[in-house]
Amino acid sequence: MLAVRDAPSPNFDQRRAPPDMLVLHYTGMRTADVAVARLRDPEARVSSHYVVDEDGAILRLVAEERRAWHAGKGAWQGETDCNAASIGIEIVNPGHEFGYRDFPEAQIDAVISLVSDIRTRWTIPDARIIAHSDLAPDRKQDPGERFPWKRLASVGHGLWFEPARERIDALGAPLGMGDEGLGVIVLRAGLHRLGYGLPPGGDYDEAMRLTVEAFQRHWRPAKVDGIADGETRATLMGVLQLATAESTTGVLN
Ligand SMILES: [Zn+2]
Repeated sequence: MLAVRDAPSPNFDQRRAPPDMLVLHYTGMRTADVAVARLRDPEARVSSHYVVDEDGAILRLVAEERRAWHAGKGAWQGETDCNAASIGIEIVNPGHEFGYRDFPEAQIDAVISLVSDIRTRWTIPDARIIAHSDLAPDRKQDPGERFPWKRLASVGHGLWFEPARERIDALGAPLGMGDEGLGVIVLRAGLHRLGYGLPPGGDYDEAMRLTVEAFQRHWRPAKVDGIADGETRATLMGVLQLATAESTTGVLN
């Protein structure tokens, strides 16, 4: 039985459908206390279902059956009311603004236990376990490139793919800002198909650069630079294959 302490927030409303998405955040504030106080402040009008502290303690602010206010404006796989579709977990970390640091082992263990627990109650596909930055690449960076998505996937939660060297080399020159043409069209379409709100098109514009950054923070965290190099593109192709395989066989599993 998972040890969870209740710390109710008034910042929620009603769901119309069961959640089928999981959004991970970092708190991005100086301390856990400041973050939790804000998530419970009626004036702030923000919340999450859970907060996981650095020592692994788990707080429940909003019941899973209710719609918490953690995602804001954004989109994933065509869903534009991400609060309505998701359960939100805030992971305590000062974030890029106040001294981004590694997530302690005890905290990640707690996140994994919590995600496992949540998935016993709701049907949440791996391709819908995402970062806040995935649904809002233009304004969010959390939980950021230090979050161990690979470890989460290694215990069965979320998608992870590491391409072979030959595959990376076969993809040729990197694509970046100002590029256009078939390579850009294919890449934009792939990002869109995975779930990003970026509309298909043929220009490597600022919106695309930010989306590539978001993809890298989640799936190629060693280098987050908004440039679609061979490794980034080969990783996207692999992740897309996993997502497609899940959506075609998921019903049977
Ligand atoms: Zn967030």
